[in-house]
Amino acid sequence: MNHITDSGVAAPATRRSFGCSVLAGAGTIMTLPLRQALAAPARVEEADENAVALGYRHDTKKVDAKKYPKHAATQHCANCGLWQGAAADPWAGCAMFGRKQIAAEGWCMAWVAKPAG
Ligand code: SF4
Repeated sequence: MNHITDSGVAAPATRRSFGCSVLAGAGTIMTLPLRQALAAPARVEEADENAVALGYRHDTKKVDAKKYPKHAATQHCANCGLWQGAAADPWAGCAMFGRKQIAAEGWCMAWVAKPAG
């Protein structure tokens, strides 16, 4: 393997320069999972299989009233007993959706009132 010297001449790569290149490349690869881990958690899509099965919508106002007659306009994820976020969080976890987050203004047929207290 050749590399370009400071004078612009191609020269055979030394074991040291090759090792540095390999380490630099490995560093790049190793930072990708870290960046992904630090990125915000994935959000549920309304088209996700379990979201469709539960009738989940990002906006409780868009829930099909005919299909879900027990739905009330006052019900939304942030006041559901399965909401895992703080009251002011726009997105948070829910026991029904694993690691993906759902919208505070969302709703699904598993909605249950938060216990009083
Ligand atoms: Fe929202 Fe509750 Fe359904 Fe979870 S279970 S998606 S918090 S309504």
